[in-house]
Amino acid sequence: MNGLMMDLPLLISSIAQHAERFHGNREIVSVTGDNPLHRTSWGEVISRARRLANALQRCGLKQGDRVATMAWNDHRHLEIYYGVSGAGFVCHTVNPRLFAEQIIYIINHAEDRWLFIDAMFVPLLEGISSQLASLEGVVIMTDEAHMPKCSLDNAHCYETLINAQSSDFDWPAIDENAASALCYTSGTTGDPKGVLYSHRSTVLHAYAGVAPDVLNLSARDSVLPVVPLFHVNAWGVPYSAAISGAKLVLPGPKMADGEALYNLMQDEDVSISLGVPTVWLALLQYTEKAGKRLEKLQRTVIGGAAVPRMMIEAFRDRHGVEVRQGWGMTEMSPLGTVNTPKPGMETMTPEQQLDLGVKAGRGIYGCELRIVDDEGHELPWDGKAYGALQVRGAWVCSDYFKLDGGAGAHTVDGWFDTGDVAIIDGEGYVTITDRTKDVIKSGGEWISSIELENVIMGHPAVAEAAVIGVAHPKWSERPLLVVVRAEGEEVTEAELVSYFDGKVASWWVPQDVVFVDELPHTATGKVKKVELRRQFVDFKLSD
Ligand code: AMP
Repeated sequence: MNGLMMDLPLLISSIAQHAERFHGNREIVSVTGDNPLHRTSWGEVISRARRLANALQRCGLKQGDRVATMAWNDHRHLEIYYGVSGAGFVCHTVNPRLFAEQIIYIINHAEDRWLFIDAMFVPLLEGISSQLASLEGVVIMTDEAHMPKCSLDNAHCYETLINAQSSDFDWPAIDENAASALCYTSGTTGDPKGVLYSHRSTVLHAYAGVAPDVLNLSARDSVLPVVPLFHVNAWGVPYSAAISGAKLVLPGPKMADGEALYNLMQDEDVSISLGVPTVWLALLQYTEKAGKRLEKLQRTVIGGAAVPRMMIEAFRDRHGVEVRQGWGMTEMSPLGTVNTPKPGMETMTPEQQLDLGVKAGRGIYGCELRIVDDEGHELPWDGKAYGALQVRGAWVCSDYFKLDGGAGAHTVDGWFDTGDVAIIDGEGYVTITDRTKDVIKSGGEWISSIELENVIMGHPAVAEAAVIGVAHPKWSERPLLVVVRAEGEEVTEAELVSYFDGKVASWWVPQDVVFVDELPHTATGKVKKVELRRQFVDFKLSD
């Protein structure tokens, strides 16, 4: 017997309608390439999204056709999110920091028909446009006064394009399982792989994001996503904020500018901000130098890479800001775990709180987790056993876009293998110890590079660090610590090595230390370990 409940499809347009009707006046503040501080509202953004939907329909786009963006976080990008997906097309966010060859590959593979870009990316696009076979037109996201001179075929001005259209548009009633957005993984090996989100997966993920133990978003919040709109849909914030009616503060091209972020947080009453660890290093360095305190910010959600202990400590003790570590990936929309305390944990000492905070967090409802050994047998949640972390859920990918033969990432019993190695404790808190390929195998045992990095990041003379495995004749691999010194700091190899004493098992302590000016980063700001391993492949360890 079926329940007697209405069967309404879960569509991104339903989020747009809700935001417009219930929080139409709630502010959206953006830094854009053409305006240092632009103010609009949810109502205006959704109204302009409908104009855009009309314009796209006039271009002859059909349901499921891909429309790409190459842009920073601002109100126009948000309008494109809603206008494109709401009208039944697929919003493909391209990461402009990728190498030109990767951008060409991604746009051709996705068969994008139109591309919306920030004016600053016009020269980049001019250099590659002759190799983009599927592209029919380009829209430059600015007004006539700021249109750059360009040699691109069929290039339009965003403001002119949408202002020529009516804001009357009936959002189509599409299947909730229809594709809504596309994002390619910033894979460090092989070609990038496309993850194709659906309306249903996006809406369910956005619902989950609002919950108190996840992002805890309400109509009273002011949210600043420093995570880019081109990185896994900014972790779902554009949708969760619209559901809750939160104010959005979008930093445009100022993503890595500590001072600009600080000022936005203070001036726009930002209560929650989200990003990868590297952006918070820039913000913390700025506040330290300028002797300033984050007075408005209440919490940060940090994920995408392990969060160093000193970062949680600095936010908590210097600024009174709660850090919530999150873990997930492009294939998971991305939310999988978020770290919040359980009842009884309020009485923890500050040190115990940090021990908990460096973990990736607990699984959130909607995303199941398990760890398995090499034979695929499930391992216990005892805080000791480590194995391959696998997930399944309504917002986890079931396949990659147009990848013939599949990627082999799914198990026969329907789980997705994340490629991460994890330990889960008795309370369900997950610790990511490594990517499978970053694990250091020493004398038949595993050493966690992430844990070593966490420890050394607490040394005041270290600005950034990475640990990689280097071949060793006896132990098969030993850890090598690669360090960027903090500005003006002098520290010796011996001082850094002795810093590990008593903090990790003695056989984990890195064999050697090398100092470098900078570490290689991926397009999403993570340390590129593949590149580091290549650089140090012939490194001769001392005995
Ligand atoms: P991406 O798809 O680019 O978002 O990358 C996802 C990967 O980032 C995961 O598979 C992890 O390896 C890593 N990652 C994300 N969050 C964390 C975290 N809290 N701790 C450690 N690694 C993380």
